Amino acid sequence: MGRFFDDMEVRPRLRREEDNNLRLSTMIDSGYRHSKRVRETLDKLELKPSDIASTSDLEKLPVISREKLVELERREPPFGGFSSENADIDRIFTSPGPVYEPHLGENELWARGYFAAGFRKGDRVLNTFSYHMVAAGLTFHEGLRSAGATVIPSGTSGTETQVQLIRDLKITGYTGTPSFLNAIINKAEEMGYDFKRDFDLGKACFVAEPLQPSLRIRFEEEYGIDTYQMYGATEVGDIAYECSEKTGWHICEDVIVEIVDPSTGKCVQPGQLGEVVVTRLNDIFFLLKFGTGDLSSIVEEDCACGRTSRRLSGIAGRVGDAVKVRGMFITPGQVARVGEAFPRVRFQVIVTRESYKDLLTVAVVEDEEYKAIDDERFRDIFSEICAVKIDRIETVKGELSDKDKPIIDKREWE
Ligand SMILES: [Zn+2]
Repeated sequence: MGRFFDDMEVRPRLRREEDNNLRLSTMIDSGYRHSKRVRETLDKLELKPSDIASTSDLEKLPVISREKLVELERREPPFGGFSSENADIDRIFTSPGPVYEPHLGENELWARGYFAAGFRKGDRVLNTFSYHMVAAGLTFHEGLRSAGATVIPSGTSGTETQVQLIRDLKITGYTGTPSFLNAIINKAEEMGYDFKRDFDLGKACFVAEPLQPSLRIRFEEEYGIDTYQMYGATEVGDIAYECSEKTGWHICEDVIVEIVDPSTGKCVQPGQLGEVVVTRLNDIFFLLKFGTGDLSSIVEEDCACGRTSRRLSGIAGRVGDAVKVRGMFITPGQVARVGEAFPRVRFQVIVTRESYKDLLTVAVVEDEEYKAIDDERFRDIFSEICAVKIDRIETVKGELSDKDKPIIDKREWE
């Protein structure tokens, strides 16, 4: 325990819910007074601020996608009416779109994420995110500083410079994308170093790019680097982070996450896949229900680390790539994970509709590799990862049709 793992993170869930409801009401009240957009949205739906009194009331409001935010900001620069005229804003970032994002003073949130990843005073951390205009560099810098670490703002310097910094400054930690760390390690080896023996870099915290399981194994087992992931979006800041249990990402304390069925806008059950929709509790930017476009599900079970927040199961894919089968979304990413369990088996998912019912068929190339696996185990692992059962397995001789597509949706909609 410490400043960034405190009573707040271990409070009973009911307490957190009550606190969040209270803070949400305050945000809605303030938003109604200060943000033209909030006032318009509520008025149009004939809602009073007091009608949004708890997190479950958020279901009454629309999800705002990134595209919608860009459009509103373009029409009404800089913040699309989501902020008040005279809000006390520390700085304004921009990202492609363009979209303008006021900094929401979230150092403590990211500090909790870095703390959970083991970053402390005494660490020297390479921050390889850009510091120019975009939020990442400065924001993570301050999160690391709050957690006590010394930061080297190496930003987008080339891999050779990064290797030199790791060597000369005895760097102990890395933050950036997994692919860039991989490139740095490759460069170091090319320069003749033994990364594990010659350097002190023993922990890494990744954001902005998914960490492939095979790359995680490589970092941890081959190079002795303890790896962690954080999840955020520039529009709302930090959303969730991994703890040492590495069994899902804890939802941040200032954040309300809804997992929403993108076709209906309604929340789905825990364990079911849906779009991650985020409301960041704050008094500057009244962006309610920001739709990230990412698919995830909620993990309800308690975490062994002691934090009582609910967790996200990780990112399963993007909304546009998902196919809904019997009310459940399945994504190419999930199908790929099934593939990792049966690496040499060639298969694809085909969804059809018969007698008003969705039918999930797996087409498999009938070769020696397929004959060598246990059919039942394949079905079990498939339904465990995709949360949908296979209706039938169809063997194919030769090649799969459209073999680069992991999922083919053959249903026709009237
Ligand atoms: Zn935990």
